[in-house]
Amino acid sequence: MTDRTQNLLTWLRDAHAMEQQAEKMLSAQVSRLEHYPALRTRIEQHLEETRGQQQILEATLRRLGSQPSMLKDSGGKLMAFGQTMGGMAVSDEVVKGAMSGYVFENMEIASYTVLIAAAGAANDVETQRACEEILMQEIAMADWILRHLPELTEAFLQRSEVPGVTAKR
Ligand code: MG
Ligand code: FE
Repeated sequence: MTDRTQNLLTWLRDAHAMEQQAEKMLSAQVSRLEHYPALRTRIEQHLEETRGQQQILEATLRRLGSQPSMLKDSGGKLMAFGQTMGGMAVSDEVVKGAMSGYVFENMEIASYTVLIAAAGAANDVETQRACEEILMQEIAMADWILRHLPELTEAFLQRSEVPGVTAKR
């Protein structure tokens, strides 16, 4: 196996671990969100996309001859980030969560941009196409979060001013 293919496999496994982390984070956010229906709906949609991305990555790894058991080793790499996302019992968790989501989506954008270049360098057009498909979903999610941060902030601030109303989630 060439070094190029070896690197490609490593980065695909990293991406798979990243998507497992993404699924945990997005599920946690969906389960806690109560008063921000637009955000909740968008996160639910991206949660489904994220599960699809995992399947695409698994199929890609299998096609390249990687054993499924090798996937387990790459877990936990992004745990530090997960801690930040998970510890959302703060008074402004909806705002912090959206900010963290935006950062995470951009990390995904960087990862798939690397993968597309690596797949191209390994002359693996199928992997390149698969990663391009995933990249579009990450860009769309990052764009959505960025565009909605102002109104989310305003909604949070308005709810915070009403006595007895929950603002944080
Ligand atoms: Mg993703
Ligand atoms: Fe994503």
